[in-house]
This record gives sequence, structure tokens and C-alpha cells, in this order.
Amino acid sequence: MRPRIRLSFDAAGGMVNAARAALPNETGGILIGYHEGPDIVVTQALVIPPQKRIGNRYTRSASAANAALSEFLQERDPADPAGYVGEWHTHPGPASPSSMDKAAIAEIAKDARNSLAMLVVSGHGRSPMSALIATRSRLLRAQFAQARPDREVKKTHAKPANASRGKQNE
Ligand SMILES: [Zn+2]
Repeated sequence: MRPRIRLSFDAAGGMVNAARAALPNETGGILIGYHEGPDIVVTQALVIPPQKRIGNRYTRSASAANAALSEFLQERDPADPAGYVGEWHTHPGPASPSSMDKAAIAEIAKDARNSLAMLVVSGHGRSPMSALIATRSRLLRAQFAQARPDREVKKTHAKPANASRGKQNE
């Protein structure tokens, strides 16, 4: 069975809207979520401003991505297992990963403890998304499924009232 990427409604909608808004350019960012067996559950897609544009191509800034990720990790509920699970970006045309996309995620996955997703979203509606899952040694085509909304809400939004206090100023 192919590994699946289970997308939350918010993450999917956010990426599709970002893809359309960026046309004719590309945009992208990092995926936040967690692993469940061979599957990757994506709860959020963070948009990271591009480092530079070469033509319309998206190259994300490593420092902006790290900053966004640490901000997310700081603000989440300590019980929330969500963290970095991969990369996403848009294509003005069809959503098939290029050889550069494949090489990029294979390179990142070499040093990762768990599998990572490379998700490509088309700015045009026809085949809106495709994705790869990269392990340390393999690149697999992923299937899509929807994340279970109840769990997703629990995991990403259930924040105790005092969760964000106390950490910041000491
Ligand atoms: Zn690409």
C-alpha cells in the first residue's frame, strides 16, 4: 500500500489559495504535522516568503523557514506532537514534482529521523496536487486522504488558557 498524506482542510485550502494568488509566480513553505504509521498527517501549511526569484521559481529561505518553525513550536500546546514534516510549493502549471523537487526532498530526508513529504500544488485547477514521500533511501509517490477533523482540531487548537504564559520572559 502506498503511504498516504492526510491533509487537514485548512492546510489544503491554504495551499490552493496561495497557489492561485501567486500566479504567474510560485510560492511555498513548510508542512507541519505528525506521523502515523507510514502516513504523514499534515495539520498546517506555513507560507514562507521566497529567498529570491529566478524567473518564477520558488526558492525558500532557510532562515525564514527556521524562524517560522520555531515560532510555531513555541506557541503550540506542549502536548501537541506536530512538527516539521516536509516541504510544499506551487507550480504555475501541472502539479508534478520536477527532478529538482525530487532531488531537494531526497537531500533533506537523508538527515531526517522520519519520512518527509514534498507536496506540489498547481495554480490551475486541473490536477491540483501531487506529492512524494521521501525516506532516507527511497522516494515514493504518495496518495492523498483527508485528515480526521476531530483529531486535527484537538491536536492543533486545543490550547490550555495558560499554555503560552511563563515561557517567554525568563
Ligand atoms: Zn517544483
